Amino acid sequence: MSLPAIDEKYLQNILVALLNIPSPTGFADAAIDRVAAALDELGLAHARTRKGALTTTLAGKRADAPRALTAHVDTLGAMVKEIKANGRLKLTKIGGFAWNTVEGESCQVFTRSGKIVNGSLLLTQASGHVHGAAVNETRRTDENMEVRLDERTSSAAETRELGIEVGDFVAFAPRVVVTESGFIRSRHLDDKAGVAAMLAAAKALLDAGQTPAQRTTLHFSNYEEVGHGAAAGFPADLAELVAVDMAAVGAGQTSDEFHVTICVKDSGGPYHHGLSNHLRSLADQHKIPYQVDIYPYYGSDAEAFWRAGGDVRAALIGPGVDASHNYERTHMDALMATTRLILAYLLAEA
Ligand SMILES: [Zn+2]
Repeated sequence: MSLPAIDEKYLQNILVALLNIPSPTGFADAAIDRVAAALDELGLAHARTRKGALTTTLAGKRADAPRALTAHVDTLGAMVKEIKANGRLKLTKIGGFAWNTVEGESCQVFTRSGKIVNGSLLLTQASGHVHGAAVNETRRTDENMEVRLDERTSSAAETRELGIEVGDFVAFAPRVVVTESGFIRSRHLDDKAGVAAMLAAAKALLDAGQTPAQRTTLHFSNYEEVGHGAAAGFPADLAELVAVDMAAVGAGQTSDEFHVTICVKDSGGPYHHGLSNHLRSLADQHKIPYQVDIYPYYGSDAEAFWRAGGDVRAALIGPGVDASHNYERTHMDALMATTRLILAYLLAEA
């Protein structure tokens, strides 16, 4: 059996659209709304959990062992921790990343009234002409990083007049670039790449008029980066959950930017051996370029569901992303391979 054709342009376009929507964890509604609009375009009814995740259900040929796939739209980001006496902002991180990965980056502050104030994240001792060797030697800590706003402010009071308060969300510019050679480099490919692959798989299935083997829930999570995204939001009779999230590329890893990876173990321990092997067999059978890998510093939404008590077979697949939780990059080959593996999984009888 051959897999349905994937609309590669759609996959790329929906990915770029999502990447350009700021959606730090806790402030991901705009990205969830965009996914809901994509489901509307596909004619798929959807619902939201109270926590704000989005789900849609694909009817299956059977429903005796229902399946689900999850990917997350929320991303790394920050929140205003303190308005400093000099009018600049001290931040607190949302999600796990190092400050140097966003140093010098443009950012947006989302005020309570809906106004957006632009700025950039800098070291407090940023100027080489003023601080000399300290620019290099200062540790990048919460204390030593600040947002310089693109507004005339030099006091806390002036900054508050802009409408900025403690608790405002801050998003870093993704800097999305699509190259002629098929690379996509951007922040937050983790996990908008996974979301785009799930949507492209759903579209391919619908375009081909095919039905999944089992009733399948597509779950779009909004709290993954802080560890509990997919802890809830699935039907009670769920039998299997596959998280679609980025594969960690780097020294010692098998993952790369041109394959889908089946992750068999990460910081949360091994995934379900039977389901991982099933996915390997499907990739073999359909000649999908894949790797099997282990991620040393990683947790997924499939494990979030396990930790919340979910009694299912759980696995993790996803496209290789270079420099994850930094200025990331992947290739269309990895995105296509991921989408094909999702399709193979959806259509497989067992
Ligand atoms: Zn992720």
